[in-house]
Amino acid sequence: MRSAAFYGRFSCEKQNEQSIEGQLRVCQQFAAQNDLNIVETYIDRATTGTNDNRVAFQQMLADSAKPVMWDVVLVYAIDRFGRNSIEVAINKQKLKKNKKILISATQRTSDNLDGSKNLDGILLENVYIGLAEYYSAELSQKTTRGMKENRLKGLFCGGKVPYGYKVVNKRVLINEEEAEIVRQIFKEYAAGKVAREIIEGLNAKGIKRNGKPFAINSLYNLLRFENYIGIYRHNEEVYYDTYPAIVSKELFEEVGYIIAKNKRGARSAYIDYLLRGKIYCGYCGKKMHGESGTSKSGRVMYYYKCSGKKRGLPCDNDIPPKERIENIVIDSTHRVMSNQENLEMIADAVMRVHEKRIHDRSIMTILINERDTIQKSLSNVMKAIESGILTATTKARLEELEEQLEQVKSKIQIEENRTKNHISKEQVIEFLSHAIQKQPNLMINLLVQKVVVYRDKLEIYYNYVPSSPHDQSDEEGAISLDECSRLLKIRSP
Ligand SMILES: [Zn+2]
Repeated sequence: MRSAAFYGRFSCEKQNEQSIEGQLRVCQQFAAQNDLNIVETYIDRATTGTNDNRVAFQQMLADSAKPVMWDVVLVYAIDRFGRNSIEVAINKQKLKKNKKILISATQRTSDNLDGSKNLDGILLENVYIGLAEYYSAELSQKTTRGMKENRLKGLFCGGKVPYGYKVVNKRVLINEEEAEIVRQIFKEYAAGKVAREIIEGLNAKGIKRNGKPFAINSLYNLLRFENYIGIYRHNEEVYYDTYPAIVSKELFEEVGYIIAKNKRGARSAYIDYLLRGKIYCGYCGKKMHGESGTSKSGRVMYYYKCSGKKRGLPCDNDIPPKERIENIVIDSTHRVMSNQENLEMIADAVMRVHEKRIHDRSIMTILINERDTIQKSLSNVMKAIESGILTATTKARLEELEEQLEQVKSKIQIEENRTKNHISKEQVIEFLSHAIQKQPNLMINLLVQKVVVYRDKLEIYYNYVPSSPHDQSDEEGAISLDECSRLLKIRSP
């Protein structure tokens, strides 16, 4: 049985708002049916429209980073999690970082309780999170304009001047000599050199940082330092005018991609079999499973193993190392995503999901029914008045109904605006073209349908991409292991 925290929010501003007790009741039923145990409750009751600090919500997010009893947050509906889809996506992402999942008792979420994923949900979440990163920074900058004059004017606000820059009259300028070294480090790393080799090269030339030789950690920090692409973050806000860019965004992202990939291989505490449920044996057709074993030298090895072989069936397929197979799949997916035609196709799929969401009229239907009911009551009261029944009660009732009608009309207006909140295909493409670098695991989960393993080749079948081996000649879509290992040698540490 898993443990959950219930989060409920009630604002009396909203008509038809399910009471906290009602939300909790529905969630308790859901928990009982799904083998969940509610061990903690967080409740926000907003008494006025402006009082929307959501103290309990912030507490819940803060607790999710601590060692708590629960790993599921159960809500009545997803909208408890933010005032718009971007806020919801960002808050979900925060939970996810702390290895907690969000489950709604009444709506589909991207995570199912059994750990599997809803494809539609993932697609949209990725888009929203990506878009949020791209555009909310810009938005928040706009709203804080005037408050942070110096930062907005791009003036240096004190502290240590980062490597590659100098400060002249409060303005950050490029220190050309150091910037050239920064560019060189990025280029060498992108070309496949490992950190140790780069440092050896710098030492050989006597190049130092603050008088000391470069260290591995500081080199990695430098490779992830966003100022080098002109982005400066302070208190969750982003400033674009403070630091001039030293390297291109493309180079920076390519480096980020390689670091993420290398890190994946090195991570040992938490082994994530990326191809779980998607990887099959090319000879007997059975699924392959992640396994680990200890080599004679005492090193733990991770690999995929044919389940036929495990059960003693006569299959003599090899047992490929996990990292090798996964890196080939990541590389191949990287290539798929670099192809404009493929990008368009995947973006179209995302757009179809988005359109479906946009056209989800369920809330609107409720509101329109409500409006019609009020209007009917209103016209009944009017008829009564016309037939001469005008008492204090009918007058009060009339005023009450008119006020309700106004309220529901403004809600319909808000809902209409929400559904008009459109994402453009261009925005989706822009996001997708960076997603494989930022979230390789999620993108593979999303895009790779099936991987078939032979001794000397892999077949990778993609969702949304037509050039998979299904409808092409035998060799199409198959990647020879030799070709890939050559490619990988460049990138492996
Ligand atoms: Zn097999």
